[in-house]
Amino acid sequence: MDILEKLEVLGAAAKYDVSCASSGSKREKHFGIGSTFSAGICHSWTDDGRCISLLKVLFTNECIFDCAYCINRKSNDIKRATFTPQEVAELTINFYKRNYIEGLFLSSAIKNSPDWTMEMLFRTVWLLRFKYQFNGYIHVKAIPYASLDLIKKTGFLADRMSVNIELPSEKSLRLLCPNKTKESILKPMEFITKVAEEEKNFVSAGQSTQMIIGATDDSDYKIINLSQHLYKKFKLKRVYYSAYTPVNHDPRILKVESPPLLREHRLYQADWLIRVYNFSADELFKSKDENLDLEVDPKVMWALRNLDRFPVEVNRASYEELIRVPGVGIKSARRIIKNRVFHSLDFEDLKKMGVVLKRAKYFLTCNGKTFERFLIDLPPEKIKQKLIDKNSLQRPRQLSFFDREVFTSVITGEI
Ligand code: SF4
Repeated sequence: MDILEKLEVLGAAAKYDVSCASSGSKREKHFGIGSTFSAGICHSWTDDGRCISLLKVLFTNECIFDCAYCINRKSNDIKRATFTPQEVAELTINFYKRNYIEGLFLSSAIKNSPDWTMEMLFRTVWLLRFKYQFNGYIHVKAIPYASLDLIKKTGFLADRMSVNIELPSEKSLRLLCPNKTKESILKPMEFITKVAEEEKNFVSAGQSTQMIIGATDDSDYKIINLSQHLYKKFKLKRVYYSAYTPVNHDPRILKVESPPLLREHRLYQADWLIRVYNFSADELFKSKDENLDLEVDPKVMWALRNLDRFPVEVNRASYEELIRVPGVGIKSARRIIKNRVFHSLDFEDLKKMGVVLKRAKYFLTCNGKTFERFLIDLPPEKIKQKLIDKNSLQRPRQLSFFDREVFTSVITGEI
């Protein structure tokens, strides 16, 4: 198989790994070509909204493990390929020089043994950094069960590492990944966190992970609660949620017709609430078996359950109260706090500050007045009907970055 055929196989095999959105890291050592600064790394957003690095490949798709949900599991009869470290390094540098990519996302199945695979990943990154003087962004996988020494050596050359948590519970992991244990995943994760705290220039853009959702009956509470724990304990930069794409007919996997993309989207919104808005999983959900409401975003879901906390008076509320109002984001809450010192604010002011009144008007007052008179004492079901996200429900699809609503929320930071 020549290198292009390998690229075809191993590029396609990498698309199921979504833990690749990259962000600028501040590696202090500067040499050679490429940069990870300011504009960050070149992201690519596919039509279905997933973030990909332009060179996103597996080192190999030959695997000794047999995870039920995985296209590359050893029991599948698929075309297999394995790069050499030299091949991946050459591809990266050649694509980089032609401006096709800004960085590398290198993942892998587990061929021969975890250590063999980790060693290959290390050698690839080593060649890039030292033979080709590549100073661009590199995200590389840490392989479960691989020696911690190998992971450490690799981490000094990579911007980001990730160990995939795979599934939201130990029970699901036992069921679908009989070769992996919770410990085999958490141990390298913990190790990376520890070394990153102790050493300079080790995985300077932090670590991330990926969780498959919809292949098991784990609830959204379990998923978000686990993410909360991972952010806290391992200081992860991001948890990525990957709606399960049915690639194998396996009786152990829940039957899904198509990837639960709307659920994935709601999980990203809930994740944003716990990372940026200081919500906790226990606040967002009423019970441990609960899922997020697909009809409205999680902040609206929470607000409707806690109407006794509303309406919030814009001219008096604390910052913490303001950011919990649907339609008020971090930036607009800060603007409110800053500007109300000079004069009391009305709804026109809020609009100028970026508050999304379409959502916020049900939960706010300005100087004791609601946006419209009929909004006083509306029951939660009525408010919900008004706020149902009809676009998402009618077209259950992955929201694209270029979707107006997503784009606006990214630009304004509102949720
Ligand atoms: S170890 Fe990774 S590549 Fe191998 S079967 Fe499991 S998920 Fe797939």
